[in-house]
Amino acid sequence: MADEETVIIGAGPAGLACAAALRARGRRSIILEATNRLGASWRRHYDRLHLHTDKSHSALPGRPMPADYPKYPSRLQVVDYLESYAWANDLHILTDKTVACIAKKTDWIAETTDGDVFQATAVVIATGLSRTPVRPHWTGQDNFPGAIIHSSEYRNASALGAGRILIVGFGNSAGEIALECAEAGLDVAMSVRGPVNIVPREMFGVPSATIAIVQQRFPYRMIDAFNAPFLHLRYRDIEELGLKRCRQGPLTRMIEQGRTPLIDIGTIAKIRDGRIRVYPGIELSEGANVFFANDRSAEFDAIVLATGYTPSLETLLPNLTERFSNAGKPARGELQPGNDGLYFCGFNPATTGLLRQIGIEASQIANSIAAVGTQAVLFRRS
Ligand SMILES: Cc1cc2nc3c(=O)[nH]c(=O)nc-3n(C[C@H](O)[C@H](O)[C@H](O)COP(=O)(O)OP(=O)(O)OC[C@H]3O[C@@H](n4cnc5c(N)ncnc54)[C@H](O)[C@@H]3O)c2cc1C
Repeated sequence: MADEETVIIGAGPAGLACAAALRARGRRSIILEATNRLGASWRRHYDRLHLHTDKSHSALPGRPMPADYPKYPSRLQVVDYLESYAWANDLHILTDKTVACIAKKTDWIAETTDGDVFQATAVVIATGLSRTPVRPHWTGQDNFPGAIIHSSEYRNASALGAGRILIVGFGNSAGEIALECAEAGLDVAMSVRGPVNIVPREMFGVPSATIAIVQQRFPYRMIDAFNAPFLHLRYRDIEELGLKRCRQGPLTRMIEQGRTPLIDIGTIAKIRDGRIRVYPGIELSEGANVFFANDRSAEFDAIVLATGYTPSLETLLPNLTERFSNAGKPARGELQPGNDGLYFCGFNPATTGLLRQIGIEASQIANSIAAVGTQAVLFRRS
């Protein structure tokens, strides 16, 4: 049994930022990481991925991204940055340590799948919003003759080895994978079930996340009302593209429902010029033929489920599910819902960028742990 002041679960950006923030306050911590290297999510993501938040607002506290990085760094540059961040902050990471469950005795106890037990006065859950892929099911799916993969398994268009691709979903992974497949000359369609919000990565040359940072001092509904004419000017009537416009603006929907808008890097132009077709939700499939909610059907060789993830916290904290009844994660803004040394970092998506948000939360959590006794940490936007 190892006895630490703070055990951090997960060596992604959130876990690393919390450990560095604690170290900056003279506090020891240990990070337990399930895979064999830090930054596992960024190593796994599809090849083409670049940050959609600019580098000046995506760095973790205390270490800017390198000056020679582009404005929107690539996935591998993010991985290199995370490695240099851990090295520069001399972080203590134990790899191949999958935490199976966390329970409160006198202290917090984290037990790994290989039988190790870690005891600490504080535990930070930094296992990410994208722990478990969500895969929808429909009648006939098992008889589809081609590959059906989740976006977490997608690498690039050529690795799909298929000509007619259906991408299910309309989040950022869906939009970028559809764009890549269209640019590679594949026959691409998207199945989009519900209403959508779309924002460009930049407006008038300024990153949308930067605009969101400037605007966040105003009430979110007011910001959405202010931005609506600009978004309409940019995207015109998206209903004529087969998409349903969301009645709530992007910020309102993110804050009230935790749903992020599509950050457009060219997908909408490809839909407009007919290179990407849009269908509604899938009803069923018969062989390679997929039937949609508007009674239309089409044949496909492969399907990519870009249908998101769930954080699956209930499996980690089976006795504490009341702490995160909100879709399997803590209620928005809660960093320490029980005020008892159990913290959550990285579960508050923000239009200002989750990486930036993680940095803010890490500092607040480290301040709380470094203070004597337990102190409630409340979410603050800044
Ligand atoms: C495709 C994609 C693109 C994104 N692009 C941006 C962007 O441009 N800008 C931005 O600000 N945000 C972006 N985000 C959102 C967010 O910043 C990233 O998901 C970021 O990696 C979140 O960091 P995290 O540490 O919370 O989670 P993760 O990076 O997912 O790290 C969690 C870590 O916990 C480990 N782990 C999980 N379970 C256990 C366990 N039981 N025991 C031990 N270890 C465990 C995992 O192996 C992993 O290493 C993006 C997200 C996705 C999915």
